[in-house]
Amino acid sequence: MTRRRALLLATALAAPALLPGLAQAQAAYPNRPITIIVPFAAGGPTDVVTRLVAEVMSRDLGQPVVVENVGGAGGTLGAQRVAQARPDGYTLLLHHIGMGTTPSLYRRLSYDAVNGFETIGLVTEVPMTIITKKDFPANNLAELVKVLRERKAEVNLANAGVGAASHICGLLLQSAIQTQLTTVPYRGTGPAMTDLIGGTVDVMCDQTTNTTQQINSGSVKAFAVTTSTRNAALPNLPTAAEAGLPGFEVSVWHGLYAPKGTDAAIVNRLSRALQVALREDRLVARFAELGTAPVSQEMATPEAHRRYWQADIAKWRPIIQAAGQYAD
Ligand code: ASP
Repeated sequence: MTRRRALLLATALAAPALLPGLAQAQAAYPNRPITIIVPFAAGGPTDVVTRLVAEVMSRDLGQPVVVENVGGAGGTLGAQRVAQARPDGYTLLLHHIGMGTTPSLYRRLSYDAVNGFETIGLVTEVPMTIITKKDFPANNLAELVKVLRERKAEVNLANAGVGAASHICGLLLQSAIQTQLTTVPYRGTGPAMTDLIGGTVDVMCDQTTNTTQQINSGSVKAFAVTTSTRNAALPNLPTAAEAGLPGFEVSVWHGLYAPKGTDAAIVNRLSRALQVALREDRLVARFAELGTAPVSQEMATPEAHRRYWQADIAKWRPIIQAAGQYAD
């Protein structure tokens, strides 16, 4: 065999060995289970949304999509875990409005809260409700405000830590009624709800994805929904404006992220699976029972999600700086 033929033969033999390796790495994604980190405790509203989405995504992706709860520090522990994970598409984050507030509230984070993630798509925007333990001595928002103003720091207000949606909503409530309550932080509003039902804490603001069933079953008392219109799953509940707190509006957007540097083909594959999940009939029906709806297909894309997230960071920065309240 001539040298040249030997070289050609060697190249021909090596090529298929190399190429399928490369092609497989891309084409075969995903070839093992994917983990979605929820940065709050199990049983809470972010957890509920994530599990519903994960189940349908797993069918579309042909691999288990498992949910792991990494709660604490207002969601920053879970976010950090994902920011520092390998950008291989197997560790994702489903977080909420905290992705918009955290960069301003926390001035010392060990991950990049502004640029440390690839966006996959928005998921849903969920209204919040103002609720209390069921024997709290108030029967409408005006009465609740009166009791909170009288009892002040004797009242325990549960939340999921600084930067959590319940924290933001609680701050808005305290500033709207000019009263300082005692804040009790949890790793998520799932366990906070257990304590509210048990009567250990008094008041909470939380997403309808955690409160609808408890309100409808009478396990807690509800006073208002924090959107400009009433919620179809809680038609008898007035808006905060109707009940006497005009301008009191907060809703909680959620999005799916991968670590920075994840291959665009993988991000797009995940985005397609998310879009499929958000159109699935049973998921849409379950979201509706929980007082919410999936975002449109256009919003469940990496580009729309990135724009929304960055605009939210820019929206919260001056508000948080003006309030001068930081987590550290
Ligand atoms: N609802 C929580 C919050 O206040 C978080 C959760 O447990 O999902 O941000």
